[in-house]
Amino acid sequence: MKPADRVDRVPPSGIRRFFELAEERDDIISLGVGEPDFSAPWAARTAAIDSLERGRTSYTANRGRRDLREAIANHVRRYDLDYEPEEEILVTAGASEAVDLSMRALVDPDDRVAVHQPSYISYVPGIVFSGGEPVRVPTRAADDFALTYEALEGAGAADAEALVLCYPNNPTGATMTRDELGEVADFVRDNDLFVLSDEIYAALTYDGDHTSIASLPGMRERTVVFNGFSKAYAMTGLRLGYALGPKEAIDAMNRIHQYSMLSAPVTAQYAALEALRGCGESVAEMRDEYNRRRRFVLSRFDEMGLDCFEASGAFYAFPSCGGDDEAFAEDLLREEGVAVVPGSVFGAGGAGHLRVSYATGMADLREAMDRIEAFVRRR
Ligand code: PLP
Repeated sequence: MKPADRVDRVPPSGIRRFFELAEERDDIISLGVGEPDFSAPWAARTAAIDSLERGRTSYTANRGRRDLREAIANHVRRYDLDYEPEEEILVTAGASEAVDLSMRALVDPDDRVAVHQPSYISYVPGIVFSGGEPVRVPTRAADDFALTYEALEGAGAADAEALVLCYPNNPTGATMTRDELGEVADFVRDNDLFVLSDEIYAALTYDGDHTSIASLPGMRERTVVFNGFSKAYAMTGLRLGYALGPKEAIDAMNRIHQYSMLSAPVTAQYAALEALRGCGESVAEMRDEYNRRRRFVLSRFDEMGLDCFEASGAFYAFPSCGGDDEAFAEDLLREEGVAVVPGSVFGAGGAGHLRVSYATGMADLREAMDRIEAFVRRR
């Protein structure tokens, strides 16, 4: 059987290929994965166990449990977002399902969809799978990887129907201020785009508060926001996320979701409800620990002379390696047993950089940074 053309147009994930190399050895320290090294807070796990003990193993409403949607509506008020639980919130199997649904529901064949890069590896494939045409908008280390009006204009995004936005960013760790987002919002309104804003790292913002582009004037009606429980609550394997947006967008996404997924996993919904109601302190503790590691990693890169901008969100540093990032990462893996991800995997603007995840315990992180330093000094 032959894959459909639109599937054939998407190459296998570049990150996977790299992890397969790493799996060949058992003395590797991996700073490669974008996944918390913590487990979900105990109270959330207990809620999941309790729901199972009570035999709650059935489907839920397509849009997710009503009490969970209400808790989500309450939670996102901290970002100045106000969504109606009945019509404007959809609970999904991870933020990934929400991103995928938004593209399939809102992008028509041959629509151009702008995506700033470097960025999370799933957006371009998602656009292609939905029949759209990606327009890559490079961001630059010189701008601290913030997206600008000029970058959007220069890449031809004015003709696009939509813009995919991801701040705090994977892989750079960049965040954007309200003023910087204001420029992007101006471009979006000037050119009548809609925005798909992946804010899954919103709770992992270290310098100042997270701003959602949907909270800027005139943006709520043209934005779908994605968030979820994988990163902030260390719940990657429970597969729970959500989308917030205007009724028409959420209705369209739900039309696909109700046929393809039916409902997000029920056990995870109970865990998520408890996460929102009672696990704020655990999130703060994990964020403080990531922040400690972030400062450590940034200071070590500084000491060894690798240029690294002040990543202020998510759990990634994105140092420049001063040359071919694929060769650097492969040699580092072979010679020192440390896995990092070459920046070019994340698209335009990523070449010459490395994604270094600090969602790794401090002892391993220290050892990995010592090995990277030894490698850099030898080169
Ligand atoms: N969005 C971004 C920016 C990510 O980095 C990731 C995972 O690495 C996801 C979405 C996937 O999230 P989920 O586990 O909720 O599907």
